Amino acid sequence: MNPGLYKAKQISQMKILKRAFLILLIVSLRLLLGDTSLYAQTSGKDKPYIILISGDGFRYDYAEKYQAKNLLRLSAQGVKAKWMIPSYPTVTHPNHYAIVTGLYSGHSGILGNNFYDPTTKRAYNKNEKSWYQQETIWETADKQNVKTANVNWVNAQVATAGLKNIYQYKKKKDITTEDRIAAILDWLKMPEDKRPHLITLYFNNTDHAGHQSGPDSEETRQAVHEIDEAIGQIVAAVETTQLPVNFIFVSDHGMIGIKAKDRLPIPTVIDTAKFVINNQNAMVNLYANDPSIVQDVYKKLKAASNPGYKVTLTMSYLLNGTLAARTTVITGQVILFLFRFGLIHLIPRRPAACMVLLRDCKKKWVQLSLPGGLCSKKG
Ligand SMILES: [Zn+2]
Repeated sequence: MNPGLYKAKQISQMKILKRAFLILLIVSLRLLLGDTSLYAQTSGKDKPYIILISGDGFRYDYAEKYQAKNLLRLSAQGVKAKWMIPSYPTVTHPNHYAIVTGLYSGHSGILGNNFYDPTTKRAYNKNEKSWYQQETIWETADKQNVKTANVNWVNAQVATAGLKNIYQYKKKKDITTEDRIAAILDWLKMPEDKRPHLITLYFNNTDHAGHQSGPDSEETRQAVHEIDEAIGQIVAAVETTQLPVNFIFVSDHGMIGIKAKDRLPIPTVIDTAKFVINNQNAMVNLYANDPSIVQDVYKKLKAASNPGYKVTLTMSYLLNGTLAARTTVITGQVILFLFRFGLIHLIPRRPAACMVLLRDCKKKWVQLSLPGGLCSKKG
């Protein structure tokens, strides 16, 4: 993988999303995740615990913007990153997988919330374990005989299927704060040898509200407060156990509002019979059935005047020209995963932030009923 390519992609996405950074708050820091030497040095009841919490779509400025008092208080007591650059594409599945594997999407193979693998000609299915090939933090912990627990982290149940030392919260929908607290207390009150030392939690409130109503809406303000209130209650409940528990709060991406008039259509120069088109809204991937047509289409897309999007080619195509050449010349997982980006990419520029037509991997055109991807209805 060419780091420069990633850098360029990240910068491009930054231009679209401006400051869609991850938030990282490390509260009452006693142990960094992964610092096994510290963990190993302590024993018995003094071994520390981590509760890792994700607020999906919790934009970098929401805590201040909406005065999330518990998060602000906790960050003032602990540590807060000024900003972080999310992995690309900046959507839910790649970034949640990045947080628990430490891998960019091109390395992990999770290249979007929906994407296509031209090698197998299959669309990503989040419910199939075969898509999750990399070692997660739960598996790393398991190798060190550290028990873990999880409440609904994105795709965690599938990714860790078969893992023994993990407690999975069974309910997948309508999980309340009380449910989360009850589960956490149940786990932390287990006998010491059964107790999980890493607990992962997930909240989708801000992502849902942001997509439905935009980042500046009353709905998003409420969603921020719901998460903040829940975290306040969880922290208070955990304090009753008197265990040395550290909290880490992260997000996976930001959110911007766009106007419906600024949405872009898929360019007509693209012959839909000749490409599989995967629209992640903030990025469109074009998979050519016949790679020999790519240069011509690319040139036409580049030649369009003021198209509202940036167009790029995949590095592997530039290097090798044809699918056959790529598969014989380049081997290895990382390059194979690059294929999943397609051969041409369209990246909308601001003020547009998404494309409006989706052709899914079953080759069916679908008119997006807003919102999709990073678009919002009222923004
Ligand atoms: Zn997300």
